[in-house]
Order: sequence, then structure tokens, then C-alpha cells
Amino acid sequence: MSNIRTRFAPSPTGFLHLGSARTALFNWAYARHHGGTFVLRIEDTDRERSTAESEAGLIEGLQWLGLDWDEGPFRQSDRADRHTAVIEQLLAEGKAYRCVCTRDELEDRKQAVLEAGGKWTYDGRCRDAGHGPDCGEHTVRLRLPEEGMLGWDDLVFGPSGQDASEIGDKIIRRSGGDPLFHLTVVVDDFDMGITHVIRGADHHPNTPFQIAIYEAMGAPLPHFAHVPLIVGPSGKKLSKRRDPVSIEAFREQGYLPEGLRNWLVRLGWSHGDDELFSREEIIEKFDLDGVGRASGQADPDKLAWVNQQHIKDAPLDTLMAGLEAQWPKHLDKAPEHDERLALAIDLNRERAKTLDEMASLCAVLLRDEVDLRSEASAKAVKKHLKVAALPLVESLYAALSKLDVEEWSESQLESVFEAVAAHHDNVKLGKIAQPVRVAVTGGPISPGIYETMIVIGRSRCLPRLERAIEVMRERAEQAG
Ligand code: GLU
Repeated sequence: MSNIRTRFAPSPTGFLHLGSARTALFNWAYARHHGGTFVLRIEDTDRERSTAESEAGLIEGLQWLGLDWDEGPFRQSDRADRHTAVIEQLLAEGKAYRCVCTRDELEDRKQAVLEAGGKWTYDGRCRDAGHGPDCGEHTVRLRLPEEGMLGWDDLVFGPSGQDASEIGDKIIRRSGGDPLFHLTVVVDDFDMGITHVIRGADHHPNTPFQIAIYEAMGAPLPHFAHVPLIVGPSGKKLSKRRDPVSIEAFREQGYLPEGLRNWLVRLGWSHGDDELFSREEIIEKFDLDGVGRASGQADPDKLAWVNQQHIKDAPLDTLMAGLEAQWPKHLDKAPEHDERLALAIDLNRERAKTLDEMASLCAVLLRDEVDLRSEASAKAVKKHLKVAALPLVESLYAALSKLDVEEWSESQLESVFEAVAAHHDNVKLGKIAQPVRVAVTGGPISPGIYETMIVIGRSRCLPRLERAIEVMRERAEQAG
């Protein structure tokens, strides 16, 4: 074990967002790559917005993505006494002070400064007033150095920082007694021995003030790595309305955790030209030097492709389990986990981009009924069950009925199709296969016709062919 310690510190105020999941993934991967420790800390100090439901959702999302943690989940709210103690200590040491300026007073002074063309930071009115604990309603502010840089060497953005005078003495405890997010983050990261703070670039502007807190506490700085934000394919910020952004939504659409994780890890990180990474390969190859400054583009086509590659290689059991959630959209009853299902899945591995698509493709082969008179089949029936195809399907049906087997094999089907074609002036096999496909599946798309017929099975195919023949005969009569 190395002494590297990272953490994921989500606020439980919503679902697990794409960007947060990527942050979690990078922290997890960095810790795992270096044999370090990955800590999960729930930052639930915003009591009004934090919910147990959101916390449960975050945890479930992480587990689904296969991001396991070594310590936690800790809850920031359980550490309130410690946060209070640090603030008291800073007050006692004169590194923080009580401020009695009211919100309205501050607003007036701020407006005056802005109107005069200045930039507002707290003007220090209470800085040296020496307000004691009995000063009435008050906030606590950190006393910032009057000059000098609050800087760090960001592991992604390089040398970064801000002059202390531009920040001013900011609040670390609200008048109601709640500590501010900046303080709790720093105290917890320090106490939990976090060596590498890897987080979204939206936190980059928070870091100088947080560094001032570390310094006031006499605590060593961790390394910081700010990861560029994720943008949509057009380069625009992701929008909750336009883009799917919750991990749950991707899961429902039938992405595999392996696929989503692989796609996420490439949003902002690269390793040569490699695109496909298993969990083990992420651990083996991930490092912060592969994280660039450019925003990660969330391209849905790329996700579909990556997911498809993982579907191709996924163990059958994984696919069968994942498909359970998808069946209700496509079949009245979920299929048995049997040979037939296994075959249907294997036939569609090369085509399905998501489990939803896989379920839809398999349902074509697995459903109990095909209704050629249904709306869903109308177009395919019109196009492929033409009168001209009737003699072909009739001959095929006759030949297949004579095959005295319980289930037919690929080679048996092949010889029957070929014999029928030969008998009908060497017609192309497709001329027979397409009407047969529509007859047995109700639609024009399925894997190879022999495989399709094998999965559907002899006992279902024969009556379906019979019904197709009926439909075609009716058409022949109507045509007169
Ligand atoms: N709780 C913060 C958030 O969800 C993260 C704080 C941090 O990573 O430093 O944005």
C-alpha cells in the first residue's frame, strides 16, 4: 500500500451526475493505480438540500459502476463537533475573528465600492474590533494574509493561484453557527489524510481560499488536480434538459457499467490512442499525467460504440442479468435463462449497442406470438409476402414439414433452402429467405435465416409459415 489517499466527496443533493461520476472514477483509478486508499465522504452539511434518497442513489451509482471505496462512507454532518472545534481554535489563535456586519450593511458598502468602480472584498471593518463571544449575532471570518499569493502547482492546470488581497476575509461560519463548505472540506481532507484532491475544474477558483484555511490551520497542503469539465458533443455545457446526465438514466437505457465506465474514463484522460479499457486496464494505465486541460466531450455515438464493444465481450451471465430490466419494454414475459436465450444473445452481440437494443433484437426471436395482421407487421408483410413469393414459401413449407426431426440443424435447413431454390429456376436464396423471415419473425430484420429459425424452433416456425401462406393466398385471391 502506498500512502496516496484520494476521496470522492459528493453532496447528496441530487442524482449521480456524469461529471461527479467521472470525478469519482478518476479518484478511484488514481488510488488503485498507485496502491493507495480511496475514501468516500458524503458532504451533507447543506441540511436543507441533502436527502437520504440522494445519498442512497449516489452509493448505488458508484457500486453499479464498480467503483469500490476503502474507507467510508463518512458523513460530514457527523463531524460537526470537529468543525466547530477548528473554528474555535482559529478564533483563539487570532487567525479568525467575529464579524457583526449585517447582510444589509455589507450590501450597502459593496454597492458603494462597485459604483466607485472598485472590486468588492470584505473591507475588514471587524478585523481588529476584537469582538468576543458575547457580541451578539455574528459570523466568523478567516483573517487572510494582507499580501502574497495563495498558490499551488495544479497537477493538471500547472501553477495556479490568486493574490490574497483579491480574496479578502471570507466567512467560515454563518451567523446560525453552520460552518462553510470551504472549511469543512479542508478540515475533513486534512483529518482524513487526503494526499490528492482530484475534483472538477469548477472548484479551481475555490482553492486559493481553501489554501488560506490550510495555512491558518498549520496543515500541509495536499496536491490538487482539477479536472476539466465535461461538455456536450457540440462543445456546449451539458444541459440537464437536453442531455442525459444521470448515471441512472444511462443504466436505464441499457448501457453496461463496463461500457459507461470506459467512456467516462476517456472524458479528459487519454492513454495513447487506446479507446477500450477493462476495469483492470484502467487501474493499470490511469495516471494524472494523461489528464489534459481540454474539456472532455461527451459524444453519445462514441458511448454507443464503446458499449457495443463491451457487449461483444461480456460474459453471458452478465448480459442475461442486465437484460432483466429491459424485457418489460419488449416482451410480456421475461424469457427463461436457457439455451434459447443464450443463442439469441450470441446472435445479436455484434449488433446491439445497448441492452435495450439487445432486448429488442432478441424479442424478435423469442416472442411467443407473431401476428402478421398486426399493425407492426403490416409494412413488412406488404413488401415481402407478395404473391410471387407464394410458390417458394409453399415448397419450403412442404419440404420442411417432411423433415422428420425434433429440431432442425443449420445444415439441414441449408439443404432444404438450396433444394427449393434449385427447384424454382435457381432463384436467389434471399428471395426465399426474406419472406420466410417475415413469416417467422413478423418483421424484416433478424440474424441469418437459419440461425433465426433455429432459435425460434421448429414447432413455432411451421405454424407461422402456414399462416404466412394463408395471408399470401388471400392476397392472390384479392388480386384475382
Ligand atoms: N461536495 C463538493 C461537491 O459536491 C465537492 C468538494 C470537493 O471536491 O472539494 O461539489
